[in-house]
Amino acid sequence: MDSCDVLIVGGGPAGSSCAWKLRASGLDTVVLDRQRFPRDKVCAGWITPAVIEELEIVPSDYDRGRVLQPIHGFRTSLMGGREVESDYGRPISYGIRRCEFDNYLLKRCGARVLEGEPLATLKRSEDHWIANGRIRAHILVGAGGHFCPVARFLGASARTETSIAAQETEFEMTEPQRAHCSIRAEIPELYFCPDMRGYGWCVRKDNYLNIGLGRLDAHGLPQHVAEFLAFLKETGKAGFELPSGLKGHSYLLSGFSPRPAATEGVLLIGDSAGLAYPQSGEGIRPAVESGLLAAKAILDTGACWGRRLAETYRSLLERRLGTSAREWVFTLGKHVPSWLVHPAARALLANGWFARHVVLDRWFLHSQEPALTY
Ligand SMILES: Cc1cc2nc3c(=O)[nH]c(=O)nc-3n(C[C@H](O)[C@H](O)[C@H](O)COP(=O)(O)OP(=O)(O)OC[C@H]3O[C@@H](n4cnc5c(N)ncnc54)[C@H](O)[C@@H]3O)c2cc1C
Repeated sequence: MDSCDVLIVGGGPAGSSCAWKLRASGLDTVVLDRQRFPRDKVCAGWITPAVIEELEIVPSDYDRGRVLQPIHGFRTSLMGGREVESDYGRPISYGIRRCEFDNYLLKRCGARVLEGEPLATLKRSEDHWIANGRIRAHILVGAGGHFCPVARFLGASARTETSIAAQETEFEMTEPQRAHCSIRAEIPELYFCPDMRGYGWCVRKDNYLNIGLGRLDAHGLPQHVAEFLAFLKETGKAGFELPSGLKGHSYLLSGFSPRPAATEGVLLIGDSAGLAYPQSGEGIRPAVESGLLAAKAILDTGACWGRRLAETYRSLLERRLGTSAREWVFTLGKHVPSWLVHPAARALLANGWFARHVVLDRWFLHSQEPALTY
């Protein structure tokens, strides 16, 4: 039997951030992931500077052999409507490739990593957990993403939850493709759906292009994606044949997640708990922050099994992420009469002040929330 203080199931940004903090305090920590790294993750690969700060990533170290694309602003519009460019003249975000970013974080976290092994069985034995019949852990952290087996063990059912459904593709452009792509690497573009229930994006990272679209309703997604790809081709934003077969994934927005964040001896972090920002769908920063807060709760309570750990984590999480406003456009479509949504959105998104100070500063960059200092 392999023993550890903390077993983290999932080695994405949530799991590796938690492990990194626990290892720095000397706790025996194991990360179990069903995949072998480097592995890819369906994602646009856009991160806010708080992530870099919270994880103490030194950009000049990270970008050696990896893509770290500075983003200076965004071009936003209602799809097909007037486009507004907000250029901040300095890096306000970064583009990363998840296959590189997640591998970097996992390799440097310092924990024992068991790759290529899914969590298949989980048993509670007094005040311990036994995973796969061979790993004995005092505390269990579920960091396995939207379909995390630990979240399922706590009763989560992805089938009955209201999740975001999104599809994306990322590929390295050939020279002729680059010549027919009007997207600039430092100014990604966001295109909101006419009913404001989702948005499409084009994020260029060096010569890699990431294109995708996410919506609050899954059933119409393929049709919206097909229309979006046709729009990109017609407008010359990506004026070439795009790869067919985008990859899809779903996840929960904070405030829409019915999942319990913690119970005795178990904490859920990142997508496993359903913590993505409701305004933008950004999930990496909440994944990292919840991972760090889970580590803090474990360390502050002396890694003790019991109610105090669960309560400490829940309260740290609520204080940090609970106030995230639910003023997002996805919900606008729910609360405003449908006949008003399109004209209201067209007028607001064409307004330069609204695009910069509300859509970007507030909803997408969360500039009102400084990086977590812990
Ligand atoms: C199309 C799309 C675009 C997105 N774009 C962005 C973006 O640009 N910026 C942003 O901030 N967020 C974005 N997100 C959200 C972001 O990808 C997630 O919120 C983020 O990856 C959550 O991190 P995590 O560590 O919780 O989970 P994950 O990154 O999903 O990691 C979970 C890990 O758990 C492992 N695992 C799963 N099951 C098991 C098991 N049974 N046993 C062991 N291991 C297991 C997986 O292999 C994986 O490595 C996007 C999401 C989608 C779908």
